[in-house]
Amino acid sequence: MKVLVLNCGSSSLKYQLIDMENEAVLCVGLVERIGIEGSILKQEKDGVEGKYIVEQPMKNHEEAIKLVLDAVVDPTYGGVKDIKEVEAVGHRVVHAGEKFATSVVITDEVEAALKECIDLAPLHNPANIMGIDACKAILPGVPMVGVFDTAFHQTMPKKSYLYGLPHELYTKYGVRRYGFHGTSHKYVSQRAAEMLGKDIKDLKIITCHLGNGASIAAVDGGKCVDTSMGFTPLEGLIMGTRCGDIDAAILPFLMRKENLNADQIDAMMNKQSGVYGMTGISSDFRDIEDAAHNGDEKAQVALDAYAQRVKKYIGSYAAEMNGVDAVVFTAGVGENGIDMREMIASNMEFLGMKLDKEANKVRGKERVISTEDSAVKILLIPTNEELMIARDTVALVK
Ligand code: ADP
Repeated sequence: MKVLVLNCGSSSLKYQLIDMENEAVLCVGLVERIGIEGSILKQEKDGVEGKYIVEQPMKNHEEAIKLVLDAVVDPTYGGVKDIKEVEAVGHRVVHAGEKFATSVVITDEVEAALKECIDLAPLHNPANIMGIDACKAILPGVPMVGVFDTAFHQTMPKKSYLYGLPHELYTKYGVRRYGFHGTSHKYVSQRAAEMLGKDIKDLKIITCHLGNGASIAAVDGGKCVDTSMGFTPLEGLIMGTRCGDIDAAILPFLMRKENLNADQIDAMMNKQSGVYGMTGISSDFRDIEDAAHNGDEKAQVALDAYAQRVKKYIGSYAAEMNGVDAVVFTAGVGENGIDMREMIASNMEFLGMKLDKEANKVRGKERVISTEDSAVKILLIPTNEELMIARDTVALVK
């Protein structure tokens, strides 16, 4: 079965066409600037030089998806001869609130439920829904599956997901911890069990998804029991541009002092903070590392603070689970940041974690990076959310 995996953002769309007979990626593409000037589609095919590029106005997601469907049948850069070979579409959807704890076949009822979650993810869910509507219009009758960032975390117990706030805020508005990057945490925790040759039911795993956005999850026996992102993807670690955990009383303090409204303080915490805000340099860890090497003190402090927050979460999740068997690094910084992994995983011998500094000198490859005698295994596992979405899609439409 050939599955098209779509990840629709507000003005962008990432896609992959995957042949699920052998889980081979047939082609990969990205559409940017949908609905704004300079719309562009770029697609690549493994083993074929160059790129398939379309530069033409794309008013909305429907127009963009029409061009994607032309691109995937391109004789040189495409993955199928006829669009009829695409038997199912898997959609990444950011927020399913408490409605779905697993992936589901998209029906009118499911779509209505996702619309009810727009309040919880105003930037993401509308784009995801536009993608679903566009596919429905262009590929009528082709089954579609929704795979939710929040689903994997729905196994968290109340003590993990409720905040120390008045209870009626939960019942009235759904104010609770949801957690994000669930597809990635699920994929890498399952891969970790496979790599260690153990049943996931017997493992306590801490998964560190360190990308532009970053989150950590405690996975006990294959189930998420806690995660660092919360009601929104702002909570937890210091990120590229997001502040992560702060004293909530800073908000009213700054709103009064700087005369900021809710939108302005929201933008400050989400877009002007993190390592970018701390350094004034960049949200990209490579730039921060370069600056630190050149003696920039703020850059060094930002890296130290970033690593320290990750350490804190590893320690607290090990305490929560009464132990840990494996710690997994994934996503942009987790997969490529050799120095950052070393900062996080060294001086953790008290916990039974011993990093093999030589084995750690690798980027983007599956590998055990702890020493032979390390009680806690440390693993580098490139994430593959698209494959996870395609697997769930096949399992549900078959
Ligand atoms: P997202 O999907 O959240 O946009 P990614 O998982 O692609 O993010 O991660 C992007 C981040 O990975 C970049 O901001 C960059 O800081 C980091 N990154 C990529 N390559 C390296 C590297 N070689 N060393 C350190 N950090 C890196």
